[in-house]
Amino acid sequence: MENVTRTTCPYCGVGCGVLIEKHPDGSVRVKGDPDHPANFGRLCSKGTALGDTVGLEERLLYPEINGERASWDNALDTIADRFKQIIAEDGPDAIAFYVSGQILTEDYYAANKLMKGVIGSANIDTNSRLCMASSVAGHKRAFGADTVPGCYEDLELADLIVLTGTNLAWCHPVLYQRIVQAKKGNPKLKVVLIDPRRTMTADIADLHLPISPDGDIALFLGLLAEISRSDQFDANYVGAYTNGMEDAVASACSLSQKEIMSQTGLTEAELKTFYELFVSNEKVVTIYSQGVNQSRVGSNKVNAIINCHLATGRIGRPGMGPFSVTGQPNAMGGREVGGLANMLACHMDIENPSHRRIVGEFWKSGTLPTEPGLKAIELFQAVADGKIRALWIMSTNPVVSMPDANAVRAAIQSCPLVIVSDVQAHTDTLDLAHIKLPAIAWGEKDGTVTNSERCISRQRSFLPAPGEAKADWWHMAEVGRRMGYGSLFDWQGPADIFREYAALSAEQNEGTRDFDIGAWRDKDEEAYGTMAPFQWPAIKGTTSTSNHRFFADGGFFTPDRKARAVKVTTDCALEAQATLPDHSFILNTGRVRDHWHTMTRTARSARLSAHLSEPYCEIHPEDAQELEIKNGDLVLVENALGSVIVRAAISDKIKQGQLFVPMHWTDQYSANARIDQLVPSIKDPVSGQPASKSAHVRISHASIGSFGFAVLRDKPENLTLPYWTLARSKDGWRLEFGLEENAGATSSKFIMTALGIASSTEPLVFLDRAKQRSRYAWFDGEHLVASVFLAKEPVTISRDFVSSLLAGNWSSFAQRAQVIAGVPGKETPDKGKIICACMNVGLNEITAAKAKGCCSVDAIGKATGAGTNCGSCKPEIAEMLHDVAAE
Ligand code: SF4
Repeated sequence: MENVTRTTCPYCGVGCGVLIEKHPDGSVRVKGDPDHPANFGRLCSKGTALGDTVGLEERLLYPEINGERASWDNALDTIADRFKQIIAEDGPDAIAFYVSGQILTEDYYAANKLMKGVIGSANIDTNSRLCMASSVAGHKRAFGADTVPGCYEDLELADLIVLTGTNLAWCHPVLYQRIVQAKKGNPKLKVVLIDPRRTMTADIADLHLPISPDGDIALFLGLLAEISRSDQFDANYVGAYTNGMEDAVASACSLSQKEIMSQTGLTEAELKTFYELFVSNEKVVTIYSQGVNQSRVGSNKVNAIINCHLATGRIGRPGMGPFSVTGQPNAMGGREVGGLANMLACHMDIENPSHRRIVGEFWKSGTLPTEPGLKAIELFQAVADGKIRALWIMSTNPVVSMPDANAVRAAIQSCPLVIVSDVQAHTDTLDLAHIKLPAIAWGEKDGTVTNSERCISRQRSFLPAPGEAKADWWHMAEVGRRMGYGSLFDWQGPADIFREYAALSAEQNEGTRDFDIGAWRDKDEEAYGTMAPFQWPAIKGTTSTSNHRFFADGGFFTPDRKARAVKVTTDCALEAQATLPDHSFILNTGRVRDHWHTMTRTARSARLSAHLSEPYCEIHPEDAQELEIKNGDLVLVENALGSVIVRAAISDKIKQGQLFVPMHWTDQYSANARIDQLVPSIKDPVSGQPASKSAHVRISHASIGSFGFAVLRDKPENLTLPYWTLARSKDGWRLEFGLEENAGATSSKFIMTALGIASSTEPLVFLDRAKQRSRYAWFDGEHLVASVFLAKEPVTISRDFVSSLLAGNWSSFAQRAQVIAGVPGKETPDKGKIICACMNVGLNEITAAKAKGCCSVDAIGKATGAGTNCGSCKPEIAEMLHDVAAE
């Protein structure tokens, strides 16, 4: 196909293949790749909108030192010289790297080699520590290696899919769609959702278990006990291929039904139904992600799940197995390449002398560390303590995403040398850097990523590198060369790195290690260029097959090749469930459908910003009533670590006593909504993964005198309002804000200053002092510059309609009055809040179609177009059909 580039989506761990068609005007068309085994042509709303995100506005294009443009030579020499000086004065452990599941495998390999093979420290950790380190720890304890045993095809072959701690509908939408499709083809297929919240994923669940936070261990211990009493306990598999099952089962059986009910918050009937489903269905896949991993007992949760699959021998066979799905596009690649502080490259272990010898000899490095380095939380603590003198952060935003984020910001501010490689000109973290290195972005990069089912795919460039931006691997190779290790970084491009990586994976392997892609060690540039997605292992001399599974016949990567059934108790979980302080809530954090991580990419897209354009706090109706919080109020969520102001969203999907706030918003898009500042630095003792879903917080009304909404042609800068949230709209910006002043006491001049509106014309004004409402609109000729709505209550106008007015011509007074009215006239139907980002279909249109008799998601799709492209909004439409309250 001419002008079509085959590449991979840069968002979640599903790892969908995409086809990019470049148009002469510079725009790009994105389609799902029908030949990619992860998605077979499907995409979700984020993948579909990738074309909106490739522009160059607000890109970092040149290196900078202390805020001044610098040459690459100057920047790289400075880094290399300072590193050498710090190593000489304080040793290699005074340097640390904090990298990212966003970077490619080749970048990761270079970072790992520079830190562990040249600098001589293991102080390199990755934001994947926040995402799936507990799964890694659980895999390594049970299997002897970080091996994901199954593959996506198992979802189509299973008769039961257990989704625990995962909102697949929003966080892994294409896997969700695969299950929806599988259910259509196999009416026997049952889905169980285990989640404290009734998320959109509940739409496909035959059973939803609204479990108490951290109640999963008790739930799966109860299941193991049930299995041990049933004829599904596979004594042959357990005897031949596992150790420790007796102890694991004894621990499970020591828990009474009453204790299980109390710790899970589930009824006897709910438990019985789940246990019967699991026991009676041989083909069962248990999918888990952050709800399991992001806990102080995450590793034990993972092992409690794996034990149930080992006890039944349901692992590594078609349609069955435990399945950790990763959050990030290359979290798996980072794990494989040794991006975690406790790993070496190619799934080898720092603490294993034989592995250290293999890697040391292969790299010709005499400096390999012998001890694991600092994991994320300890790493930033060491920065705060002054033990780290140079910190290099790559493609990640810890000032937003790390727990105790305010302390992390203070730590970075105190570090003598902070280097940040990024694609954006401003992020909350980049703004603190002494040296800024411009990296190339998705669309410009070349390399590989690994998805959740061990499938390695190419990301290919279809755009030139802008300005002086360079690949991350190049940044590190250049620093390595300038430190005097040119021969270790003798790479001309990513293909050279991949070949070296493949060769290392096969070095003295002979089946002793799971990760072996030796088949790629001698492949030439052309083969790398045309690489089709393949699942590892890809052992030299064998044919790599798709849908490879591990462990059906044992073959674990422990010394005796047997799995370890880890004895798990609920002791730590009980600590985690300790009684809340008075008037406190448990805070859950997570993703929304159309935003990604800290929004550096998705916030560029107006259509992705339309679905949920503001940070919010989900609260149960009875809690809200008790606190006199109304839907749409601005609320203060706080604890001893910090506070945020977000919009209240009252919902019975969340249990009483719990709150949910999304993780995405940063200081670039909101006044104060970095929710991770409230998450304490509590971590799983085995994996080091932070417990991001169980902070204790209080909630109350934010002190706001009036509420505002504005659409603005120009991006407002340096806002100092007590509350604001900015989102891109098709022709400008939309701003939600709050003022200390009451709405009746403001003037147009005050508003212009507060929102940074530049206009020399008098605004059109509407004032209702009795009701404390005011509205303003500024025009430039026939065009709208800004329109502002203020009230003492949350503003109730049609936001999507008002946002669309920036595109119109407004010459007559009658037309301009419509702008001030804030609702469309009879001739222009009001779409309402956008539900389908692809087809731009709003809530009101779906409600109208429902009123006209459309009673299925497909019928709504036929009538309105909603859900007919990527399908990511289908669960929300289904919910609207079931649930009048949701409207
Ligand atoms: Fe990208 Fe969506 Fe596929 Fe994830 S599910 S890889 S975000 S298209």
